[in-house]
Amino acid sequence: MSDPIVTPFRSNTHNHRRCVDTAMARAEERCSRRGVRLTPIRRRVLELIWRRHEPVKAYDLLDQLREEHRAAAPPTIYRALDFLLGEGLVHRIESLNAYVGCGDPNHPHLGQFLICERCNAVAEMDDDDIQQLLARKAATQGFQVNWQTIEINGVCPACVAEGINGKRERKTE
Ligand SMILES: [Zn+2]
Ligand SMILES: [Zn+2]
Ligand SMILES: [Zn+2]
Repeated sequence: MSDPIVTPFRSNTHNHRRCVDTAMARAEERCSRRGVRLTPIRRRVLELIWRRHEPVKAYDLLDQLREEHRAAAPPTIYRALDFLLGEGLVHRIESLNAYVGCGDPNHPHLGQFLICERCNAVAEMDDDDIQQLLARKAATQGFQVNWQTIEINGVCPACVAEGINGKRERKTE
């Protein structure tokens, strides 16, 4: 069985520079293979989404882009986001109304997202077992699934670790 984790939770020790470089290289590769253009604006928006390695809202992207391109307006961002979504380079997290970069754009998928309620970190999974199970259960209701994206709220490993430490400290007081 293949590893269902597409994008793991960020770790404090990971090389984020390399993480962004890899994402940008994959995006370039995908766009050239598909014969679509990763224009400078589209590229920059994707870079800004990857920059913090957490979900980003459209208006935060607009603020950041305006520092470089005074003329940037909401349609500039939304057109770029539409393109990136359409090419599978980013995903929209509906519950946060925000966007995250996809760790595996060369393999089309729908995905399940684990979202940390404390720090907003997101991990992405693409688990066939979950999808098939849901499709089977839906079929018992005569329902045909066309699209399924699941957003699961909880606490990420880093925040869980912090929580445990917090409790320990209180105990020793
Ligand atoms: Zn990173
Ligand atoms: Zn993805
Ligand atoms: Zn967290």
